Amino acid sequence: MAWIGSVVGLVGLTKLTGKKKAPEDTTKKASPSGDNGLGEIFNQPGLEDLREAFGVAPAAFVPVGNAHSVPMKIGIYAPPAGGKGTQCANICDKYGVKQFSTGDALRAQVKAGTPIGKEAKSFMDAGKLVPNDVIEKVILATVSDPAYEAKGFILDGVCRTQVQSEFVVREGMMPHINIVLEVPDEEVVARISGRRIDPTNGRSYHLKFAPPPAGEIANRCIQRSDDNETIVRTRLEEYKTNKAGALAPYPSDTVVTINGLGKPAEVWARVDAVLAGAKSGVTSAKTQAFFDQ
Ligand code: ADP
Repeated sequence: MAWIGSVVGLVGLTKLTGKKKAPEDTTKKASPSGDNGLGEIFNQPGLEDLREAFGVAPAAFVPVGNAHSVPMKIGIYAPPAGGKGTQCANICDKYGVKQFSTGDALRAQVKAGTPIGKEAKSFMDAGKLVPNDVIEKVILATVSDPAYEAKGFILDGVCRTQVQSEFVVREGMMPHINIVLEVPDEEVVARISGRRIDPTNGRSYHLKFAPPPAGEIANRCIQRSDDNETIVRTRLEEYKTNKAGALAPYPSDTVVTINGLGKPAEVWARVDAVLAGAKSGVTSAKTQAFFDQ
């Protein structure tokens, strides 16, 4: 993809590795005081705890290009109907990570009639956030599946409050990169009534903007009971009230905010650019600057 070349050009190979080296040399350990991505982030005063959260001692930090050759940990944030589900499916297809949506996990618990599902249902029906202690149980139950560790993961709406993000950091799951999709309120409301979900794989469609393939898939698609204008306004308020807190525990240099408007393929090109940039060793700050220019 042209992006890889352009991000490398944007940052410069010297900046990626901290030294003038051929790309293959980046497998060497980074100096804790180096300015290469994660080292740059975690060597800031006050962020020592985050080194522990990554389970890596400072001396073992590798340049960011190599950090992302380990299974990626990704976070995605967006308002309801903001396109998280659609983009997560693309991310899993291309980057091989495993998706973890607390919304999907909670709906499964509700369907199965478990104690967690019973506790969560009234909050979900009202469009309110499910209490943090319930979410923490859902997170621990889900990530006990070793596939998350082995493949890497994308946290899809998993951290909606500061308490939840702090929990994720403490559990060693802090994302290497956090993508925020910006979508205006009116667009959220316009999208919600047309949204349909394929219950067999969770894929999202929109009757007008991204219709499901006619026939078997279109016939089995359902509308979520909380996808109506009244409840979506509550969900939107919950998102806006808690977003800054949810991102606060992460170093700002791991957060990239992009425009979530446009056709799903156009948004995917932006999301893919962020992840391809991260994998090629570009810091999020550089990627953000690229999008902001
Ligand atoms: P949305 O895009 O509206 O957030 P989701 O399917 O991701 O849709 O979530 C549906 C509902 O599940 C939310 O409105 C909320 O009640 C609950 N929920 C999901 N994730 C969380 C979370 N991390 N914390 C609290 N509540 C959550």
